This record gives sequence, C-alpha cells and structure tokens, in this order.
Amino acid sequence: MSEKVDCRHCKHFRAAPYEARLEGCYLPGNMSSKQSAAYLDEQQLPGRHDKLNRNGDCPDFVAREQKPSLLKRLLED
Ligand code: SF4
Repeated sequence: MSEKVDCRHCKHFRAAPYEARLEGCYLPGNMSSKQSAAYLDEQQLPGRHDKLNRNGDCPDFVAREQKPSLLKRLLED
C-alpha cells in the first residue's frame, strides 16, 4: 500500500486567507473556473481538494519545495 498524500503539502494547494481568497486546488485541470488574466483572479474557483483527494491518492500531487533553513540562507549570502 502506498503512502497517502495530503493536499496541504502539495504545490497546487492554496490556503485561505493568506495564499488565496478561496481555499482549494489550483491545478488548472482541477479548477471549476480558471481565469488567465491576473485581474480576474477574484472570479477563479479552485477545485474541491477534499473531493479530488478524498482517498489521499491524488495522481496530480506534487510536493511543495522546502524552504532552506534560515541558517543556511544566512550562510549562503
Ligand atoms: S487535489 Fe491533488 S493536485 Fe489538488 S491540491 Fe490536492 S493533491 Fe494537489
């Protein structure tokens, strides 16, 4: 049995209220309504991540990139 995936660790997921107005899946193919122009962002409707990934086996899951630690970033500057 493979490990389950969590939308909150997927790069297509945006959380409200800081990442998006509406929480959900922003992978274009999964979205209910997609607008290409940035000024129409308010009209976008994300996909229902809770339904799309109900069983934790979403085939579109892509892990979010981990930010390097603060110490590493300071040492590299
Ligand atoms: S539904 Fe799939 S693609 Fe969308 S956020 Fe969840 S894991 Fe990612």
